[in-house]
Amino acid sequence: MTSAAHWPRTLIVGGGIAGLTAAVALRRLGCPVEVAEQSPAFGVVGSGITIQANANAVLNALGITLPDDDVVPIGHFTMLNERGQTVLSGDARRIMVDPPSVNVHRADLHRVLLEAAAEVPLRSGCAVAGVTPVDGGVEVAFSDGTEGRWELVVGADGAHSAVRRSLLGEAECRTRYSGQTCWRFAIEAPDLVPSATVEQWIVGRRMGAVPLSRGRIYVYLVESAPPGTPGPGTAAPSELRARFGGHHAVLDQIFERLEGVAIHHGDLLEHAEVSFGRGRVVLIGDASHAMTPNLGQGAGTAIEDAGALALEMLASRGDVGALVASLDGRRRERVTSVLRTARRIGAMGHWKNPLARWLRDTLMRITPQSVSDKQTAELWRPGLELAVELREAGFPSPLEV
Ligand SMILES: Cc1cc2nc3c(=O)[nH]c(=O)nc-3n(C[C@H](O)[C@H](O)[C@H](O)COP(=O)(O)OP(=O)(O)OC[C@H]3O[C@@H](n4cnc5c(N)ncnc54)[C@H](O)[C@@H]3O)c2cc1C
Repeated sequence: MTSAAHWPRTLIVGGGIAGLTAAVALRRLGCPVEVAEQSPAFGVVGSGITIQANANAVLNALGITLPDDDVVPIGHFTMLNERGQTVLSGDARRIMVDPPSVNVHRADLHRVLLEAAAEVPLRSGCAVAGVTPVDGGVEVAFSDGTEGRWELVVGADGAHSAVRRSLLGEAECRTRYSGQTCWRFAIEAPDLVPSATVEQWIVGRRMGAVPLSRGRIYVYLVESAPPGTPGPGTAAPSELRARFGGHHAVLDQIFERLEGVAIHHGDLLEHAEVSFGRGRVVLIGDASHAMTPNLGQGAGTAIEDAGALALEMLASRGDVGALVASLDGRRRERVTSVLRTARRIGAMGHWKNPLARWLRDTLMRITPQSVSDKQTAELWRPGLELAVELREAGFPSPLEV
């Protein structure tokens, strides 16, 4: 007869997409879990995000449903060159998956995750300064000088993770700047919402407009730039007009309405090394494998991590001794492949050489839709399989082990 599972007292550091999804997943197992979030409110950047089918399937398997009112299923998409000519167009609905890939405002996604995590104690305004593994547990130091001890810590505190730094040291936390910097915002403009996601590649720049629910549009603007430039002061409407204006009529109209809209600016970076932690400290999401957003899979892989963590916890019946190794074994190849592909696509999008750009655009134009459908299905496959595994293990209902 097997012994009863012992679910470890767990602290999740970070109440972002990875942290809240992991909180829901572990709670479903019966794990005594808490979340510490540094922000005073569980707020988020006011822009949009794409949750592709692989991630949406895992959310569903965990019992988290994004309401129809909050999402715009991804349908048609178009990519334009600098002359406004279509180099690629397609329809994500050609690959029938339920639930589908969707665009959602980050605030709406966050609200849904918070609702799903309603039973989990959440401490806001609670920053973790560092962790110290000790015999049978992990000591956690908070920035306000208080301390606590847990049997397991999940670092879900983003690309600049304090948990990762204190556990592994600076060398293993190195990030690489991609050479690209990004502005993004969401704006309410029902008359300008595009019927399809549109991305335009101009020399050294990319611009995208994504339809969101309730008459909102998510816009991202990416520019090749040396490290450290342009500075944070450049998140001003006039700067965006100067940098990205004059290429796309709808974006030009949007740029005229930016007064009072929160514009977020940040450099696109990735971790030099993937790490899922050590001992009783597990890393997931951007804390484990920050990647550039060019495949729209940073949050997707973070959600998959959370599902995978719950499955490995279930398999070990709460014995955390080999948890990091088993999560690493399950996830390393997947996240490394996504991270590398995202890097490659980002670099291609900013090529400056005219011949290389012509070849790229021609290749994209002549690639049969069936080939790109196959690539997309392959990108989603690991998440879809994970969702099936979660359901077979009894999720989303609480499990009896
Ligand atoms: C421009 C851009 C566009 C993107 N678009 C997409 C997309 O379309 N689809 C997609 O799947 N992904 C996308 N991503 C990636 C996605 O945003 C991230 O991968 C995802 O947010 C990672 O979630 P996370 O929870 O791991 O980290 P984060 O979102 O960074 O959350 C970390 C949380 O931890 C908290 N925290 C940090 N430090 C501490 C501390 N010391 N103590 C306590 N709490 C702490 C933070 O306040 C935050 O709430 C995009 C990224 C960028 C930059």
